[in-house]
Amino acid sequence: MEQGAVNALLLFSSTHESSQKNFGNPSSIHWAGRKVKSAVDDARECVAAAFGIPDPDDLCFTGSATESINTAIKGSYYFHKNDMKRFHLVTTEVEHEATLESANFLAMEGAGIHKLSVDREGEIELAALEELLKSLAGDRHNAVLLSFMAANNETGVVFPYKEMAELGKKYGASVHIDAVQAPGKLPGFSLRGVPADFASFSAHKIGGPKGVGVLSVRRGAKLVSLLHGGAQERKRRAGTVNVPGIVAFGAAAEALKERNWKKIEELRDYLEFEVRTKIKGAHINGGRAAVRLVNTSNFIFDDVRGEALLMGLDVEGFAVSSGSACNSGSILPSHVLLAMGLDKNSAASALRVSIGPRNTQEDIDAFLTALEKVVSRIRSRK
Ligand code: PLP
Repeated sequence: MEQGAVNALLLFSSTHESSQKNFGNPSSIHWAGRKVKSAVDDARECVAAAFGIPDPDDLCFTGSATESINTAIKGSYYFHKNDMKRFHLVTTEVEHEATLESANFLAMEGAGIHKLSVDREGEIELAALEELLKSLAGDRHNAVLLSFMAANNETGVVFPYKEMAELGKKYGASVHIDAVQAPGKLPGFSLRGVPADFASFSAHKIGGPKGVGVLSVRRGAKLVSLLHGGAQERKRRAGTVNVPGIVAFGAAAEALKERNWKKIEELRDYLEFEVRTKIKGAHINGGRAAVRLVNTSNFIFDDVRGEALLMGLDVEGFAVSSGSACNSGSILPSHVLLAMGLDKNSAASALRVSIGPRNTQEDIDAFLTALEKVVSRIRSRK
């Protein structure tokens, strides 16, 4: 976590002695509540400014981006269920499970689900999106939510989120962007001027604590709340808010201003160049996409199984991940890589490397040495 976020978390955490001054509930009217409310509101402003949300009051804090995504998708569905329209979700095959599982849930409810395919680099075709939106807009009984990610968590491939949102609006759809991966990793990322009704973010992806998310809901957006109870978060999400988490989210958002993008990008380019040069049969998934996050590389190596690679690197002290979910200790093929046209074996063998703001050239060199060693050991066993 960013140091500022850690300090903020401690200051407002009930297990810390300094929290005695910050014990109030932001929903209470007394002085103690007002003090904490003002800290939450400050955090709201920092988060809104960092993500390019013009009105901080649009932000509704949640327990995770998964909750934000579920709220945007299911809350839109329930809104249109009330107005008797047939609900259609337009999304892509490479979304996070929060979107794909919400889509599965809505399919059982009878909603129309449309998943756009991607090409070998993980990119979508805007013309295909436009054609689909146009055909759905042709029936006035349809209500459409276009929900897609700004950047892919496995490959780092960035979708043209502004153009996609504009297409959604052109054909009368509501638009939700899963923007979890973009801030802090995509230089210049901002939703200012992007016509999205909803956007989801997560604190822990920008150096904040785990277990805090936010959903941006533009004024007038068509949404029904999923949590009912108190009037917190402008009645969009009932329940006492996670004060320490939100204040630390604000501190992490503020710290994004200091992030050295160039350094992270240079380390990523160095890593990829060295891997390509030193290790035969290395491939970078999505490596030729028009725009990528500066910190993410997704590799596969010919004749190297993902499990063995991850276990070998873990023993060497590196916390890297596969592209995909684990089930009973074995790695399942990544739905993202399958959608990009990789076969099942390759899609289960990916290695995802994320470079953090505190990594150094020495870290990358140490990683390269370990990677070369582990890959050649696995290959020599064949
Ligand atoms: N969407 C994307 C693109 C993600 O990468 C993640 C988390 O990795 C999520 C959604 C879910 O975020 P959270 O862990 O806050 O639920």
